[in-house]
Amino acid sequence: MSRVDMRSAEGIEFVVDTGAPCLDLLYTGGEGDRARWETLHAAGDLARWVATHLLGRAVAAAAVDVTAEDLIRAKELREVLWRTANRSADGDGPAAADSAALDAAAARPDIAPQLRPPGVVTPVTGSQVLSTLARDAIGLLTGPYAERIKRCAADDCAIVFADTSRAGTRRWCSMARCGNRDKVRAHRKKEK
Ligand SMILES: [Zn+2]
Repeated sequence: MSRVDMRSAEGIEFVVDTGAPCLDLLYTGGEGDRARWETLHAAGDLARWVATHLLGRAVAAAAVDVTAEDLIRAKELREVLWRTANRSADGDGPAAADSAALDAAAARPDIAPQLRPPGVVTPVTGSQVLSTLARDAIGLLTGPYAERIKRCAADDCAIVFADTSRAGTRRWCSMARCGNRDKVRAHRKKEK
């Protein structure tokens, strides 16, 4: 899954197709301004996010074995991904320390797929979760959409996404939110 349900400060609900699971993690909260959106307060919150979001409800949160230490590491990785995605949107490569952090996380075993239900080997560990996200990020940064990591075109929107559309002309985090706000603004300008 690479779609995130969001709610703006004005209370508008909208869905963002981030284009990659590693980018979905960015919208669970973060440091600085993003701290007000924090949803990962305890290890259980991370377990729930992995079960319902990353694994698409294939497993129960109880099958995700993450500790308080894993939560700290996941939040560190989230900052690495946030910086890296933003640098990429600005046309820059990752900072050396951030690529080293991604490589270190990806070097460990990731979540193992399994043919039998529930589709992955359980319990899923924190280290596997971080590896899966880091591998996804490396795949994104070296793949066909590496040059298509973009920041929403709205001045007051910080959402970063990978534009996986065929034409590669996506401008907005969501048509329902920023695309529509732009349309309304353009319309008002015309009326004046
Ligand atoms: Zn936006």
